[in-house]
Parts: sequence; C-alpha cells; structure tokens
Amino acid sequence: MNINKIRGTRDIINFENYIKLYQLLREELNNNNYNEIHTPYMEYEELLIKNLGSSTDIVNKEMYYISHANSNEFDKKIVLRPELTTAMMRAYLEEKIIDKPWKVFQIGAAFRHERPQKGRYREFFQCSIECINAESIGYDIELLILLNKIFKKLIIDDFELDINYIGNNLERKSYKEALYNYCISKKKLFPESIQNKLDISTILRILDSKDDLVKNILLEAPIISDFWTEENKKNWTIITQNLSNFKIKFNHNQRLIRGLDYYNGLIFEFISTKSLGTQSTFCGGGRYDGLANNIDIKSNIPSLGAGIGIDRLLLIIEENKKNNFCKNISLIAIIIETENQSQFFYSLSIQEILQNNKILCKIYFDKNTLKSGLKKANNENASICCIITDKQIINNTIIIKEMRNEKTQVELSFLDGINYIIKKNNEMIECVLSN
Ligand code: ATP
Ligand code: MG
Repeated sequence: MNINKIRGTRDIINFENYIKLYQLLREELNNNNYNEIHTPYMEYEELLIKNLGSSTDIVNKEMYYISHANSNEFDKKIVLRPELTTAMMRAYLEEKIIDKPWKVFQIGAAFRHERPQKGRYREFFQCSIECINAESIGYDIELLILLNKIFKKLIIDDFELDINYIGNNLERKSYKEALYNYCISKKKLFPESIQNKLDISTILRILDSKDDLVKNILLEAPIISDFWTEENKKNWTIITQNLSNFKIKFNHNQRLIRGLDYYNGLIFEFISTKSLGTQSTFCGGGRYDGLANNIDIKSNIPSLGAGIGIDRLLLIIEENKKNNFCKNISLIAIIIETENQSQFFYSLSIQEILQNNKILCKIYFDKNTLKSGLKKANNENASICCIITDKQIINNTIIIKEMRNEKTQVELSFLDGINYIIKKNNEMIECVLSN
C-alpha cells in the first residue's frame, strides 16, 4: 500500500490503555466537582493568536490551517486546535456561563506541527482541566493537591513538581526590563541566532532555552522573586506552606516560565524523574487571569488550569514496571477439553455468570488440548484457569487453577467454584488499587 498515515500521527492499536486512563481521570475529576465538556476541534485562527501571543512557537510555527473545498481568501482563517484552554475560556464567555467557579475538563486531541519523536507527536491527546472565574489562591492549592493525588496513583514517585510565581503584569514588566538589560549587557556571549532576537516583549522565553550556553549565561541573571511585591510574597508563603502541610514535594524553579503569554501568578510543571528524557514534562499549567480579557476586553475573569499530556503520561506509566495499570488486572481463562455440546454449554454458562459479575473472562475454543490451553492462558497473563472436561460436567464441578503466585489447583462444586473466582478476582483488584 502506498498511502500511509501523515508524519507525526499514529494508529493507536492498543487504545485500551488510553480508555483506562481516561476512565481514571474522569472518575477523579468528577469526584472533585469537575464536569466534562467538549469544544470543537477547529477554531478561528484569531482566537489562538490573540491568546497565545503572536510571537509564540505554537502560533508562528506549529499551527495547522484547514480550509474546505469552496474556501476563498475572504473567509476567516480556521485552525486545528493546538491546545484546549483558550477554547474553553471562549466557551465560558460565548455560552454566558454564570458558575463561579466553572470547574470543567476536556479530554481530546490537539495538533501541533513539531518535529516528531518519542512523546512528541503532531496529533496528541490532552486532558485540559480548567477552573474558570476563581480568584482565591485556595483554588491553586486545591488543583495542585488534586493533580498530585492523581499522579501518585498512576506513577507513584516517578515525578517531580516544579513551581514558580511570576506575579502580575506590573511586576513582570519591571522584571522583563531587568532581564532584558542583563541580556543586552551580555549580548556578545549569546549564540548569534539569539542575539538578533533579543526583544523586551518576548524576553521571558529565553529562560525556557534548552541551550547549555544560554543557560550558563543566565546563571547570574536577575530572578523574578527579587521583584515580588509584599502581596506576591504573602501568596507564595500561603501556597508553599499548604503544599508542605499536605506533604507535596516541590522545587522552586526560578527559571520556570511556560511558553505562552497568558500566564501569571503561580505556574507549575510535573516532570518525570526517570522516564522520557527531554520530553519529560507531562503536565503543565498555572494561573491565566488575563486570558478572558484577551478574548473580550470587558471581561475580567481570574482563572487557572492544567494540561496533562496523555501520551506522555501513558509512556511513563508503561515504563514504571511495578505498575499494573497496563496489564489485565484479572483475566479468567476457561479451558475446555473437547468441542462437544455439553462442554460448550457448561463453559458458556460459567462465562455468563462471571460476566454478569463484571469479571473479564474468555473461553478458549478452537480445539485446544488442556496443555496448550494452559500455555495460552499463561501467555495472556490469566490469573485463574477454569478447566472443564466431561468428568466435571457429570460431577457438576470446576477445576480451578491459580496461575500467579502459589499456582494452587482445587476442584470445587459449580457454585463454590464461581464464588471462589469472584472472591479471588475482588482480592486481586483491591491489591492493584491499593498499590
Ligand atoms: P513541551 O515543553 O514538551 O514543548 P509545551 O510546554 O509545549 O510542552 P503545553 O502547551 O504546556 O506543552 O501542553 C501541556 C502538555 O501537553 C505538555 O506538558 C506535554 O505533556 C503535552 N504535549 C505538548 N506538546 C505535545 C506534543 N507535540 N506531543 C505530545 N504531547 C505534547
Ligand atoms: Mg511545545
């Protein structure tokens, strides 16, 4: 076949793991009063430019433009969404939502034209969590506690939290001036590509640079905390003391700036400590009090949120072997000896009862011997095998073989056998959830 998928996109054959992760996120977020919404995959270009900033990489290099068969030059330009937050704020304003705060989330694809590599794709998935019209920094603390709890469940200790406080426009203005003046004083030391781009309006982004030379020059650059007002200092203390009280570990990363123009106040990133190399940031977010104002000049709606990179989080989950998330927690394999009417009926009846109890099971049809059936069950990581021959049918029993740990084998009456499987299955699920 000579028609292939578009570079940087994937056919995800094992989408089951995505669904499992979505389910877990949905449960946790619903439990914390976040409701799921959907906004369109396409938006007007104008919305993104206004909000992300015309000089950001996303707007300058990464946006996908779409048109239709009858498009003409007078149509407003349309893009595939590169992120979800902006559209969610647009929806809040356009749908005239009055909830205060409006706690919502959305899981879905975003599109950016970047260089594809592990953990970086042109079509990727985000879970965008937004708390709109929420002024108090109590919401910032609450969101970090929630995210920390979710990631602890999923990847245990393979993550760190970086936070920074970037104040409001006024403090940032003074800081930008100081940083710009510092960079200009060191201009000759920077790589040429950067020397030509030093600009006061975008100077903060230099802190994001991955270039070692740039990082070295910036070691002695002014830091934002020197420009904090008394109120900023108080907010910082309240936030960090609460995080400590809740035993949430964090690093104060003075360099953390996040690439987009709309942030202020507290910003944060969750980073994997062991997995993913340079693509190790799997969640980022913070306050964006000015975003609504960019969309509608009359709107002043303090808000905050976070974007989880679903693909990266899944890669990290998969790399953490001790996590059972991606395995079948418990699969019951039913092995029959002969393909005859009574063994079909007996095994299908067991399957029906187990399925009614929401237990994952499968019958190995297709003329297996008991031995090859057991081998297959082992390969599929089944937790328990039910073995059925004509003898069991006559005696109304089931042979139950445990495939993990002790590998015991017992023969029980039909009813006792079913109850035994249900009990073992529940134990296994509890064990995984408590890990
Ligand atoms: P990066 O530093 O990797 O470029 P970003 O700052 O551009 O990330 P955000 O806009 O903050 O990313 O998006 C939130 C999350 O979405 C990121 O932390 C990351 O996990 C994920 N993400 C961003 N871009 C991609 C991509 N191209 N492919 C896969 N995941 C991505
Ligand atoms: Mg990026």
